[in-house]
Amino acid sequence: MNSSPPRSLTLIGAGLAGSLLAILLSRRGWKVTVYERRGDPRIKGYESGRSINLALAERGRHALRAAGAEEAVMERAVMMRGRMVHPPGAPAQLQRYGRDDSEVIWSIHRADLNITLLRLAEEAGATVHFHRRLHTVDFESNYARFIDDRDDQPHDIHFESLVGADGAGSALRAAMNRKSVLGERIEFLDHSYKELEIPPTPDGGFRIEANALHIWPRGRYMCIALPNAEGTFTVTLFLPNEGKPSFATTNSGAEAEALFAQDFPDALPLIPDLREDWEAHPPGLLGTLYLDRWYLGGRAVLLGDAAHAMVPFHGQGMNCAFEDCVALAEALDAHDDLACAYALFQTRRHANAYAIQQMALENYLEMRDRVDDPDFLLQRELEQA
Ligand code: FAD
Repeated sequence: MNSSPPRSLTLIGAGLAGSLLAILLSRRGWKVTVYERRGDPRIKGYESGRSINLALAERGRHALRAAGAEEAVMERAVMMRGRMVHPPGAPAQLQRYGRDDSEVIWSIHRADLNITLLRLAEEAGATVHFHRRLHTVDFESNYARFIDDRDDQPHDIHFESLVGADGAGSALRAAMNRKSVLGERIEFLDHSYKELEIPPTPDGGFRIEANALHIWPRGRYMCIALPNAEGTFTVTLFLPNEGKPSFATTNSGAEAEALFAQDFPDALPLIPDLREDWEAHPPGLLGTLYLDRWYLGGRAVLLGDAAHAMVPFHGQGMNCAFEDCVALAEALDAHDDLACAYALFQTRRHANAYAIQQMALENYLEMRDRVDDPDFLLQRELEQA
């Protein structure tokens, strides 16, 4: 019998990747401790307070299956069998993703998903500490300092190795980069986004087709809407930062309403809180993060958005982060030496992540400018025939 104590890993971030990785590793016998900047979403509610959703594809489902989390997550997923394209002044048209419902994607609620994965991580044996924001790391003595943002108190811990699942603005990446240059490059898009909401009908139904990803393509910009199980849709408007129209020319709720009246007249009556929502939240930035190196010997490794954040137009950031989690767990199965495991992980995932980042950038052009182009549609039909 093997009586050696379990090896330990310290995860930074209990978001989507952090909580899935915690399940995978705990089930393999690792002692997993997770530190999360925010409060426990099961107690205080999810941070944004709004229904934000994500497109889950087979890549992501495969990873959820590997963690035994698929069934729990899919309970509240809404199937999207294609793009419902809303051209200006013409009826909406469904473009299926595949020949039938065996090739579809799913809309899932970010908060529900995170809460489900957190619960499963704790059930698998992981310990999650909330209100712990990674502040600094001493890689010489393997100490990390966390701050509790409620009282600004520091909390120091000793670690064997750190895994950064702390998102696009990763504090661990910054600490690693200070120790040894990772070759970081961030390219911001000159477009940003705002999220709005279509509420359900008075009897709790969907106001537009439920089983589709809706797109209103308008050339230089576009609006999309994904369904939520409770009958709402999360609407996201992607708009340039400069020019006309842009976020620079659309500041007030009244200006946003005028933009919708002109360019998205069929969507406007569906969004009763447009003015208030527009003024309550600043536009979100979009960018692509490239790193030459994702790890620092056996002392730290990055995954998910912390390693390769991407623009959301392929709906693959989370799916790709989930694939990372499986790949890292498998690399740790293959090598006892952490530096070797992290090197193998990077070798297996770096080129894939880069390819998805490029596809995500290309898909913006397709979604906003080509999905209602007759030549594009004919080409697509020929490809599917
Ligand atoms: P995150 O989900 O960002 O989690 C990071 C966690 O780390 C958070 O809980 C955070 O609080 C915590 N944290 C941050 N800093 C610290 C710190 N210093 N100390 C401790 N904890 C910290 N992807 C899809 O697959 N499908 C989609 O449809 C999709 N749509 C998107 C739409 C938009 C508008 C955007 C912006 C992104 C979208 N994405 C989508 C991408 C997806 O949101 C990300 O790829 C995914 O959230 C990455 O997961 P993550 O765990 O790496 O990072």
